[in-house]
Amino acid sequence: MITNPELKRLIKITRALGIRIKIIQKTGRYPYAGTYSAPTRRSRGLIEIYKSNGVSQHDMFLILLHELGHHIDFLIRRRVPEAYYYIDQEYVPRWARRSILSAEKHAVQYAEILFLHFEFKFPYWKVKRECAFDYYQYYYFYKTGTWISKKQTSDFLDAWDKKYKNSLVTVK
Ligand SMILES: [Zn+2]
Repeated sequence: MITNPELKRLIKITRALGIRIKIIQKTGRYPYAGTYSAPTRRSRGLIEIYKSNGVSQHDMFLILLHELGHHIDFLIRRRVPEAYYYIDQEYVPRWARRSILSAEKHAVQYAEILFLHFEFKFPYWKVKRECAFDYYQYYYFYKTGTWISKKQTSDFLDAWDKKYKNSLVTVK
């Protein structure tokens, strides 16, 4: 059950934009936190959130915000980059990785703009950190063709916390 009021509000905003939301229970660790499917002539847009063990409502808020960033990117470009069709394949060509990185960069930027625009009562540093990490993991993927490990993830987050967490001025 969703109890966090700001997550509830974000869900309302997403639905008001005509996008369906599906929360899918997963067991264990699942590679994606969420996915975005753009609207077509026949169907509305869809955001899926994968709720595996340990995913809190704060995490879900961040996931939904990110996926909504993809929707804004779609509204501006009127297309989803073809490169995403390759993402589940064993080898993702470099051009596709570059294109995915660029789309993710946009999604991250729009997510932050949405956050600021709606003045969510949610720790700003968490949004900043998530955006930085989202970008970093796709940058890593672009550079190496492989996904970042669990250990590298926690190293990145620790380093980020040390550097920025306490220096970030809260908006409100
Ligand atoms: Zn994304």
